[in-house]
Amino acid sequence: MAYRLPMTPEQRKRKNASIVAWRSRQSPEKKSERLRVELERKRSRSESKKEAERAATRIRRACATPEQKERARITTNESRKRRRDQFNAWQREYAKGRGHYLRVIRRARTKGSVGSYTNQEWEELKAKCEFKCQMCGRHDLERKLTVDHIIPVSKGGSSWIQNIQPLCKPCNSKKGARL
Ligand SMILES: [Zn+2]
Repeated sequence: MAYRLPMTPEQRKRKNASIVAWRSRQSPEKKSERLRVELERKRSRSESKKEAERAATRIRRACATPEQKERARITTNESRKRRRDQFNAWQREYAKGRGHYLRVIRRARTKGSVGSYTNQEWEELKAKCEFKCQMCGRHDLERKLTVDHIIPVSKGGSSWIQNIQPLCKPCNSKKGARL
């Protein structure tokens, strides 16, 4: 095989220029065909690479000793447990001052309502209503106040604080999805 000297920068520049000129002379049909072929080649290269990686994994697994398998199993389970614990800890931390807020988010997700309010907003609203149910007037101490959407979520009401009122549980369930 003949040994070829590496191209000088000057030669490389000339070669690139000639490739660019050749491409610019190509007809649109030829150009799109060339692009298609290049894409196809690239794709098949990455496919064969992936296939090789999969084969290597299969071989590694088949050759693993029982100890290695056990170790892999433990590592996987441990990392799953770690992730689950992390998530639970985060959720607890987040829900501490905002249990209410979390519930609103969940409800908004399931029922597709817009808006949200904070625990503080809810407390302020109850204070403004003198901690009384807006239908029967009973006090929070007598009947625990619950969140009611003035315009129900099912009728397109939002979960912004402006659409929220405190009602006791019996009044809330009596009202149901009515306005
Ligand atoms: Zn009531």
